[in-house]
Amino acid sequence: MVPGARLVILGRQGAGKGTQCVRLARHYVVPHISTGDIFRAAVKEGTEFGNKLNEYMHAGQLVPDEIVIGVVRERLNQRDTRSRGFIFDGFPRTAEQAEELNKMLDEENMPLDLAIDLEVPVEYALTRLAARRTCSTCATIYSTDRPPSINWTCDNCGGEVVQRADDTEEAIRRRLEDYNTLTEPLIAWYLEQDLLVTIDGLGTPDEVLNRLTRAIDHRSG
Ligand code: ADP
Repeated sequence: MVPGARLVILGRQGAGKGTQCVRLARHYVVPHISTGDIFRAAVKEGTEFGNKLNEYMHAGQLVPDEIVIGVVRERLNQRDTRSRGFIFDGFPRTAEQAEELNKMLDEENMPLDLAIDLEVPVEYALTRLAARRTCSTCATIYSTDRPPSINWTCDNCGGEVVQRADDTEEAIRRRLEDYNTLTEPLIAWYLEQDLLVTIDGLGTPDEVLNRLTRAIDHRSG
């Protein structure tokens, strides 16, 4: 059995985190934890909690730290993460979240293996975001260049593949601004802890996956 992994994937919107995390999760047999996917699932359920989240997400605003941290704490306590680890996608996004994550991992004696900055120039990220389409059921990511094989029906689960409600120009601009001011500083923070690797996110999904697995295997080998 391949050993597990404990990874954080950083990178701006459109860098390809979601696409690569699904592949990494399969490769290392480790849970992929996307806070965005968790929140979207809650929105879909239409609970009061979900409706509240939707207000932030629809506007392209960050969900408050205490909510995010609560959700992550619960997820980290599940058996699969304890035995196999995790690949965090879209978390942490603020200094507070990053510090809380370190505390939680310290408490559980589960140190982070690596934080990966998936780097893509902003103009490419914008083009990818405009083309991005997502399965509304299982969150598989497609694009107008790589659509599902049948008429916007997900190849994975048969769900409807749509443009995300928060992939509007205004919400994208806001999310990218938040990334620059709140999330990008985490790159230097992880670098100081000697946990950071930067990976070029340009190229085909397979090329990028190869770069990622090489860096991860090198680090753990
Ligand atoms: P993107 O990276 O394109 O913004 P995600 O699917 O990661 O997409 O997140 C969608 C939305 O969910 C964000 O715009 C934000 O409202 C919320 N969200 C997800 N993760 C976090 C987080 N760690 N902290 C705060 N808000 C979050």
